[in-house]
Amino acid sequence: MIPLIFERSVSGRRALTFPRLTEAEREGPLPLPAEYCADEAPDLPEVSELDVIRHYTRLSQQNYSVDTHFYPLGSCTMKYNPRLCEKVAALDGFAGLHPLLPQLRGGAALTQGALEVLWHSGELLNELTGMAGFTLQPMAGAHGELTGMLLIAAYHRARGDTRRTVLIPDSAHGTNPASAAMAGYSIVAVGTDADGNVDLDDFKARLTPDTAAVMLTCPSTLGLFETHVRELADIAHANGTLLYYDGANLNAMMGRARPGDLGFDVVHLNVHKTLGTPHGGGGPGAGPVGVREALLPFLPAPIVTRSADGTFALDYDRPQSIGYIAPFYGNFGVMLRAYAYMLHLGGNGLREAADHAVLNANYLRVRLQEAFDIPYNRICMHEVLLSAGRQHKTGGIRALDFAKGLIDAGFHPPTIYFPLIVHEAMMIEPTETESKATLDAFADALLRLARLAETDPGAFATMPESTHISRVDETRAARSMVLKA
Ligand SMILES: *Cc1c(COP(=O)(O)O)cnc(C)c1O
Repeated sequence: MIPLIFERSVSGRRALTFPRLTEAEREGPLPLPAEYCADEAPDLPEVSELDVIRHYTRLSQQNYSVDTHFYPLGSCTMKYNPRLCEKVAALDGFAGLHPLLPQLRGGAALTQGALEVLWHSGELLNELTGMAGFTLQPMAGAHGELTGMLLIAAYHRARGDTRRTVLIPDSAHGTNPASAAMAGYSIVAVGTDADGNVDLDDFKARLTPDTAAVMLTCPSTLGLFETHVRELADIAHANGTLLYYDGANLNAMMGRARPGDLGFDVVHLNVHKTLGTPHGGGGPGAGPVGVREALLPFLPAPIVTRSADGTFALDYDRPQSIGYIAPFYGNFGVMLRAYAYMLHLGGNGLREAADHAVLNANYLRVRLQEAFDIPYNRICMHEVLLSAGRQHKTGGIRALDFAKGLIDAGFHPPTIYFPLIVHEAMMIEPTETESKATLDAFADALLRLARLAETDPGAFATMPESTHISRVDETRAARSMVLKA
């Protein structure tokens, strides 16, 4: 185990020393008021510069990341983020931008470049999705969902319509019902049919005049293209119901199909899954939301506009807007990376990225289909959903055991036990950025574990053995919590 930095502390050890203050400096023009001065020095670790460097470098090496390893976490799209996007985001004129900088002062266009990035990003996203306008302000996919549901609520309200429910497939990501509920809606779950599509009959039965929206993920969280999507859209629209597109999986079809053409009215994108921005461990992120013409007036303030003379501005004068979702320019640095990624790949490049994501997932599906149950075994999109149901039944080996075994094999486990409707689910998303050699190494490791499940299931009990902490009791930490440093 790596000791805490406090445990490295040696009394009197220093990384650097400051010259003593002179009497004049202590009395200087801005003396610190006595009430702000501590009586004793704070209890900080006393370490040398080398101690600090070694400590934090070692800690950083404990990280498991896309930069070091294959990370096939289904639904999360842990793809490589090109360094080019980081370089663009680090350019002085962007990185040094202050949110309160005036847009124009004395004829100087202080933030025109940044505003143009945002404006043009919106244009590119319109083209990619078939929408009429975007807000780039939401700070995550889930935040985009909430924004989208508030937009849908505003749209219905403006028409004097008081619909109260939202239909969501039972395979959906948990953020969907959570976001709809935060926007004030009641949730109605829709079933999945034997092919993994939304169950059409169940959908028709649950759609009522009270249904404000349907939230769909396409491709679905089962990794499948929703083949009824046009029919669902027509039925919903005939009912006055809007269609919400959870775009977390747009990376599987960008450049091939556009949500706007499929009938969706509101979309959010996860730029960290579809475009090349980092997953931020909770932030900062971005979840831009696009809408059809009829919902434009409700978009959050401010919106970037371009006037006839080519100047860009932030427009706050939006009387029908749902209001503030995030201040200033949103997470500008994140959108800038997404913009760089779109320009870098271009239209054809984005389509190729989607094609490779689908090809890689299908390659793994075919390599693994003999050894594992595949609940919906048809051509998949960007991820393949396996089940450890067979192994669980015969030798008691579960998806969790395969996940632990993969850690010892040097791989991040796939997403397990999601979607909830699949028994012993293992959802594998290789992404487009991995080579065939990496995919083969991963498939070989999983096939080895499948054989082990037959020949020596007891061997799983101690996995993982290569980590600082081995198999933990999954519930004890929550049931009998001991918090201490
Ligand atoms: C990741 C994901 C979300 C949530 O997005 P965040 O950016 O993590 O908030 C929503 N829906 C689906 C299908 C997802 O995969």
